[in-house]
Amino acid sequence: MIIIMEPSAVEEEIQKVVGRMENLGFRTILNRGDVMTVIAAIGDKRLIDPATIAAMEGVREIQLIQEPFKLASRESKKDDTIIDLGRGVKIGGDHPPVVMAGPCSVEDNKEGLLKVAHAIKETGAQVLRGGAFKPRTSPYDFQGLEETGLKYLKEASDQTGLLIITEVMDSQDVGLVCKYADIVQIGARNMQNFKLLKAVGQCNKPVMLKRGAAATIREFLLAAEHIMYAGNPNVILCERGVKGIDAKYTRNTLDLSVVPIVKKYSHLPIMVDPSHGTGRRYLIEPMSKAAIAAGTHGLMIEVHHEPDKAYSDGGQSLDIPMFQSVMKELNSIVDLLVKKEKAVK
Ligand code: PEP
Ligand code: MN
Repeated sequence: MIIIMEPSAVEEEIQKVVGRMENLGFRTILNRGDVMTVIAAIGDKRLIDPATIAAMEGVREIQLIQEPFKLASRESKKDDTIIDLGRGVKIGGDHPPVVMAGPCSVEDNKEGLLKVAHAIKETGAQVLRGGAFKPRTSPYDFQGLEETGLKYLKEASDQTGLLIITEVMDSQDVGLVCKYADIVQIGARNMQNFKLLKAVGQCNKPVMLKRGAAATIREFLLAAEHIMYAGNPNVILCERGVKGIDAKYTRNTLDLSVVPIVKKYSHLPIMVDPSHGTGRRYLIEPMSKAAIAAGTHGLMIEVHHEPDKAYSDGGQSLDIPMFQSVMKELNSIVDLLVKKEKAVK
């Protein structure tokens, strides 16, 4: 940690800061410049709250040198984390993007879900998505079928061989959801529900963590750190858009820069959800293409057998023919990229 003192700081203030840091077990190195003094403090940052040091008399600024996330950081693990999702599907590293698709909510029309599942399987998607526990902004909206929904997902998986991803909203339900799901999803609204992060950190399924709607990348990676710290190294990050300034044309602002940024600072797989990221059906194809070009490890796309009748997020859901056409486009881009990589090697 670097502590930069004000040019006006007097010796007594400098010594107070040095004394405070040394009492906390830090080693300090003083660099007295012509204009200001800089104190390098070396030690275990977990023991202090930098804001309390920043508030001391004569302190201008605190700079942290190391990334605050450790287990999730590239510094701690150079190689990409590749997660085996089951049934031979792997996510991360140089593996082609994994496609997770399906309705926003699992609805009481099981036949509709099965129709979607068979269709997405045929196009080459590997994972069926669908919410059985739904985080809804309004209490009057559809809240999900809970265990019945999980059972429908399981039936669709048994029929098609697709893996299942579904959201868990409460730490009490982690055991139940893990019984049915191959990947457990933490939604944007729960990205900083630390009790829930700890609970999925103790389960034995990979966890897909969505970025909070107003979360910085640092907060996003620290949320992943909570899951890893609790014992689960298999975390997949998912960008799903952040609150922007333009709610008229897009539901959220899809921050694709997070893909190369996360790849630089973390070894964890990072994927993109253009459905919640944009909220508009016509934006799914171009933003999926852009996500692949940016290097995403996966895509999450909402598909409904009859989007106009969907209980949730119909406006951003593709119908089956649209999904088939989007996948045709995406598969050709992935093929091109794979060919290019082979030619380079
Ligand atoms: C979802 O994927 O079903 C969902 C609710 O997304 P988010 O948490 O990104 O809003
Ligand atoms: Mn949705």
